[in-house]
Amino acid sequence: MLLARVAVPVPLGQAFTYEVPAPLTAGVRRGARVLCSLGARKVLGVVLDVGDREPEIDRARLKPLLAVVDPEPVLPEELLGFLQELARYYIAPVGEVMQLALPAVERSAAKAALELPGLRAVGKLVQVAVATGAEPSKPLRGAAVEVLAELRAAGPTSVAELEQRWPSARGALKRLREAGAVEFEQRGKLPDPFAGEVVPDVAPELTLPQSVAVRGLVRAIEGGERRAFLLEGVTASGKTEVYVRAAERALSLGRGAIVLVPEIALTPQLVARFRARLGSRIAVLHSALGEVERHAMWRSLRSGEVKIAIGARSALFAPVLDLGLICVDEEHDGSFKQEEGVRYHARDMALLRAHRANAVCVLGSATPSVTSVELARTGKLEHLTLPARARANTKLPEVEIVDLRRTGPGPGGERLISVALYRALEDTLARKEQAILFLNRRGFSPSLVCEACGKITECPSCSVALTLHRARAERLVCHYCDYSRPVPDACPNCGEPSLVEEGSGTERIESIVAAAFPGARVARLDRDVAAGAKSARVLDRMRRREIDVLVGTQMVTKGHDLPEVTLVGVLNADAALSLPDFRAAERTFQLIVQVAGRAGRGDAPGRVLIQTRQPEHPAIRLAATHDVTAFLEVELQARHELRYPPFSRLALVRLDAVDEDDARLEAERLAGIARRVEAEGVEVLGPAPAPLARLRGRYRYRFLLRASDRTRLRLVLLGVARAPLDRRVRLAIDVDPVSML
Ligand SMILES: [Zn+2]
Ligand SMILES: [Zn+2]
Repeated sequence: MLLARVAVPVPLGQAFTYEVPAPLTAGVRRGARVLCSLGARKVLGVVLDVGDREPEIDRARLKPLLAVVDPEPVLPEELLGFLQELARYYIAPVGEVMQLALPAVERSAAKAALELPGLRAVGKLVQVAVATGAEPSKPLRGAAVEVLAELRAAGPTSVAELEQRWPSARGALKRLREAGAVEFEQRGKLPDPFAGEVVPDVAPELTLPQSVAVRGLVRAIEGGERRAFLLEGVTASGKTEVYVRAAERALSLGRGAIVLVPEIALTPQLVARFRARLGSRIAVLHSALGEVERHAMWRSLRSGEVKIAIGARSALFAPVLDLGLICVDEEHDGSFKQEEGVRYHARDMALLRAHRANAVCVLGSATPSVTSVELARTGKLEHLTLPARARANTKLPEVEIVDLRRTGPGPGGERLISVALYRALEDTLARKEQAILFLNRRGFSPSLVCEACGKITECPSCSVALTLHRARAERLVCHYCDYSRPVPDACPNCGEPSLVEEGSGTERIESIVAAAFPGARVARLDRDVAAGAKSARVLDRMRRREIDVLVGTQMVTKGHDLPEVTLVGVLNADAALSLPDFRAAERTFQLIVQVAGRAGRGDAPGRVLIQTRQPEHPAIRLAATHDVTAFLEVELQARHELRYPPFSRLALVRLDAVDEDDARLEAERLAGIARRVEAEGVEVLGPAPAPLARLRGRYRYRFLLRASDRTRLRLVLLGVARAPLDRRVRLAIDVDPVSML
């Protein structure tokens, strides 16, 4: 009896074993999708192995596979093997991991294909019916006659369109196909979300450090070597050009490349540069893409027609054939970590995929993560550096620290716009130059406080303050669960009408700047005004100089090249420092250096003001001097003393439940199990309530595992993952956690 191990999309353990019925033997292959029953349901799974040996299985109880969906394996072997290893690494259900690599249309289309045999597994909306010209071999009745007449008159028509006009079109098409009168085709063209002419670009002359970096990468690509590099280059030092040259070389050798960026909508210039140099043979995987467009791109990559994929973290799973290169731009960025479902880190996994594919991996950043720096120090990454800005005569901006404890408030009594910053803005606007003000808080006011009882108005389902949003019709909004309510007249706790606003968000700063400088065009860039592609439009207006002052959250810090910006103000450098997270200093440093890097990229010199109450903190002091090396020294030393990564391995086990006791008891029980697993050198810290103790109505508990060695950590995690769990409690295992909340 032939058996198949199949990854099915359920949040349970590992693969399931099925019997392969004789008629399906030829089609059941590793990487192909199959229809199988799971309880009362029918689900699509991916075949992982086919064989006849599995002694521990009770063969009499095996269910047969129902059908084979793909004539060819849907996932290339290299990608499939990588996904399996990823599942193993994160102790994630292998079936859910497979879903990361399959576009939604591909999933639903496969189901449609099964209802209508003969159709290939393609996107529903791009399935086109075509009249063959042959006379039907059977006599036809009803809708089939009308549909055939329509196809003959109108030419190829999409199945979806036919279905709208004839509810029974599917059945009719099936009969027409059996009668030889109709064939199906896949029609879909490669869409271009970054539409517009591709203006070919002349390759700029490389600086000396750039050529050294390019030479190193190109040699490794030519040699087909599995090597990994850290490309450390100050802001505006021309890292993109290095990626472009490396990708060009991979392409000329017939190999593919993946370029990962933190947020594709915010990096139109990187995409434009790639297109200008490599033509349109690039799949840009963008959040604004429709499912059908995404699917068309996926297919063009899978077929090898397109060999380069650019996108945010999920582009790591693009089915690029013969992978030769993976670039991870701004590798320090937190958005490469997925915080829901399969909690993977795209940067770490890029190293793994490249290694398995004998490809070259480049991690690039002006502020490399402590993790990557340690990998470079221990020789696991080769270190390439771009020490100066690429454009001649542009220097890193001058940075001044403004001590908020000693500086008076500026206009309107707003403490976050100090007198020094106000004067700097005045100068910048007088010179008709542009400014960016960065504040890590959206909304108008971060909280409402009662002056009578001292309570902060909190979200009813999360343990966080509600933020006042004026632009959203004076509502209080929860930034974690999106709950919102009108502003109350009186304190919900004590009933006194004594609520006052506390603190400032981007919305308030925008209105204060607009009032203080009536002639200036002030705009805001945060998640409230601009999601996805819209943010690109705000940046476009900034580039066309239709905005004088841009106020924004992290979105303004990401790799934009805005040559007319000469002033950058970091309004509150302390905000990120106060988070209960061992990476708080690292993140603060990176944020400040990145946002400061937006200043003075053009002809005029740049100026940066950092406002803080802790001017002596190394993250702030060393960001002011752009001293990445010194900061990393300090930070590595601290991590070493406290045994935090990269000097240990961490995993967070989170448990949440509607009832607080349920979550607490299960956390205590599982932590006990973890303690009993005999694995030397694994510490169990906790359990304790999570810093964000309640979220979306669920109480959260957690414990932390710390180990010197990955193998032992894994052993303990497997013990936890396999323990039976109270049904009312949810468990999440986060290996190499990024968010400690
Ligand atoms: Zn009160
Ligand atoms: Zn909430």
